[in-house]
Amino acid sequence: GPFPDGFVYAKDIDDIYNHLDNATCAVLLELVQGEGGVCPMDRDKIQALSKHLKSKQILLMIDEVQTGIFRCGELFASKVYGIAPDVITTAKGLAGGVPIGAVITSLIDIFHFGDHGSTFGGNPLACAAGLETLDILHHIHTDGTLQRRIESFHNALEDIVKHFSHIFTHKVGLGLMCGLYTKDIAIQEHIITNALESGVIVLKSGKGVVRFLPALTITQDEINEGFTRLKNALKSL
Ligand SMILES: *Cc1c(COP(=O)(O)O)cnc(C)c1O
Repeated sequence: GPFPDGFVYAKDIDDIYNHLDNATCAVLLELVQGEGGVCPMDRDKIQALSKHLKSKQILLMIDEVQTGIFRCGELFASKVYGIAPDVITTAKGLAGGVPIGAVITSLIDIFHFGDHGSTFGGNPLACAAGLETLDILHHIHTDGTLQRRIESFHNALEDIVKHFSHIFTHKVGLGLMCGLYTKDIAIQEHIITNALESGVIVLKSGKGVVRFLPALTITQDEINEGFTRLKNALKSL
C-alpha cells in the first residue's frame, strides 16, 4: 500500500463474490499476476466470473499491462481465457520499450474527443513505435514462430526443474511470462545474482518465484544459449 481509493481488495477469485453489491461498478484483475508469483488464474473461474458480472451489469476490467501485447501468446491474455472484458489496460510491451500506455474499451459512448488529456498523450514517436511493434509481433504470432518459442521455452524450464529438483518445485506461467518456484525462498536472491553473473537476467516475483520475461522476438539460439548459461549458474550454487 497505500492502495488506490475506492477499491476493495479480494483475496482470490472466489472472494470477489463476497464483495459485490449494488454499489460495485467494476472488478479489476490481472489474469496472471506479474509481481504476485506469475500464477495464471483458473480459466473456468474467470469465465464464470465474467458471466456473473455481465448478468449483474458490473464491468470487468483486465489489467493487461504485463500480460498483454502477445506476452501470453495472444494479443491479450483475455483471449486465452476466452473472455471479452469491458476495459483493458495496456502499456509496457506496447511500443517495445518506448513509453506508452492505453486504455481500451468497448464502451464507445463514454469517452469523447478531448475528455482525457495528457502532455505526451498521443505522442507521435511513441505511437509510431507502437504500430511497428504490433506489426512485428503480429507477424511472428501469425506465422507460428511465437508459439514455437513458447513451447521451446517451457520445455527448457521443465528440463531445469527436472535437473535441479533440489532447487525448484515446478514451473508456472503462461506464454513467455513464466516462473520457477524455489523450494527455499532464501535461494531466490542467489539464483538471481549467479544468473546475472552468467549473463542471464531473471527477476523475482512473489515469494520465492524466479521470473522469466524474455523478449518475444527471442531466437531459438538465444534460448539455448540462455539456458546453458543458467544451468551453469545453478550448478555453482
Ligand atoms: C507495470 C505494471 C503496471 C504499471 O504500469 P504503468 O504504465 O507504470 O502505470 C500496472 N499493472 C501491471 C500488471 C504492471 O505490471
